[in-house]
Amino acid sequence: MHPALRPSFEAVLQRNPGEPEFHQAVLEVMLSLAPIADSRPDYTQWSILSRICEPERQIIFRVPWTDDDGVVHINRGFRVEFNSALGPFKGGLRFHPSVNLSIIKFLAFEQVFKNALTGMPIGGGKGGSDFDPKGRSDAEIMRFCQSFMTELYRHIGEYTDVPAGDIGVGGREIGYLFGQYKRITNRYESGVLTGKGLSWGGSQVRTESTGYGTVFFAAEMLAARDESLEGKRVVVSGSGNVATYAIEKAQALGATVVACSDSAGYVVDEDGIDLALLRDVKEVRRERLTAYADERPSATHVADGSIWDVPCDVALPCATQNELEAEHARVLVKNGARLVAEGANMPCTPEAVAVFRDAGVAFAPGKAANAGGVATSALEMQQNASRDSWAFGYTEDRLRSIMRDIHTSCVETAARYGEPGSYVMGANLAGYTKVADAMVAQGVI
Ligand code: GLU
Repeated sequence: MHPALRPSFEAVLQRNPGEPEFHQAVLEVMLSLAPIADSRPDYTQWSILSRICEPERQIIFRVPWTDDDGVVHINRGFRVEFNSALGPFKGGLRFHPSVNLSIIKFLAFEQVFKNALTGMPIGGGKGGSDFDPKGRSDAEIMRFCQSFMTELYRHIGEYTDVPAGDIGVGGREIGYLFGQYKRITNRYESGVLTGKGLSWGGSQVRTESTGYGTVFFAAEMLAARDESLEGKRVVVSGSGNVATYAIEKAQALGATVVACSDSAGYVVDEDGIDLALLRDVKEVRRERLTAYADERPSATHVADGSIWDVPCDVALPCATQNELEAEHARVLVKNGARLVAEGANMPCTPEAVAVFRDAGVAFAPGKAANAGGVATSALEMQQNASRDSWAFGYTEDRLRSIMRDIHTSCVETAARYGEPGSYVMGANLAGYTKVADAMVAQGVI
């Protein structure tokens, strides 16, 4: 690391002990600042760096709820409002047993720069709970969401902080959260949450946008090399919202998606993933991928091992953080992969990213490649503010052009700072300088 940056990074380590994911996210951004450490000390001096690494506000609260048998459970709720220089705090809520302050802070920190890259007027935040929705009834999910919102409502608002979904939070949860917000506040404030249902203030394409956006971004990366997705072998990890729509768009653009995964293993399907069957297994029946393999003659299920063993041209990690490590990256390189775009947040470890860089594999970090989700949330906010709703085709065109603009911004920024071809450098430097400029303009607050 550049010596000018080290004291700020040491301070982050010391002030935030026991938060490895947050340290990892900060380290990645700090390493990207090296090219400007000498030429632009105004961007890398302590006063701006230490402010950008300190959340504006961190809220932790108790979430009590009662299960269907009358047993009381206590979970922990979080909302980290990281940076509002560019607009109201914006970012999803994650319900997963692994959630802790470190994970929410890393997600919120990444969100700040991702949201800046979209070009939309949104700051960055993230929240969630260590609640495990797996196996819970609708009624239990509803009671949990109502209890969560009974505390969260006082911290959010159309002009303050606008949550949305993430892992474990989809349309059903946003519905219960919105209903409770409306009941407590007695206000139909559509713009307080995004990811809403289409008949009550939601936006077309929001459900599809993270996965579609990731594939649009990968297509831009290929186009920059005079290639396309046509005929490419693609592996997509995960089988949730991001993965499903990444598979759909990749296949629509002529690729064959030959594998996807869940927490119990992965399936390989040389004929290409059958999306209708995948959706039925995952979204309707809420079963494991073994059910997919049982019903599809061309598919095999692998219970242990890694999905990254499956040879492919393009890898789209769309499951969760740190799912793709250096050893997996080496196998991907050996098998001829040429492009990796992160649909999830920080799915590749720093060591894996280094393997891709050294092997000349085009690599796009999540804050660029998966920004389509939050960008479409910002389009939802626009529609809510004007009490309008746009057609699917128009909204998808807006998403496509936002992803194209993010790609251009990454490529141009990387080249300007002497790191041509590095999407990591381009994304971090473009996002960081935009946020830093706004913070400086707004004074020491
Ligand atoms: N959770 C998504 C992300 O990681 C979307 C956030 C939003 O729409 O506010 O960007």
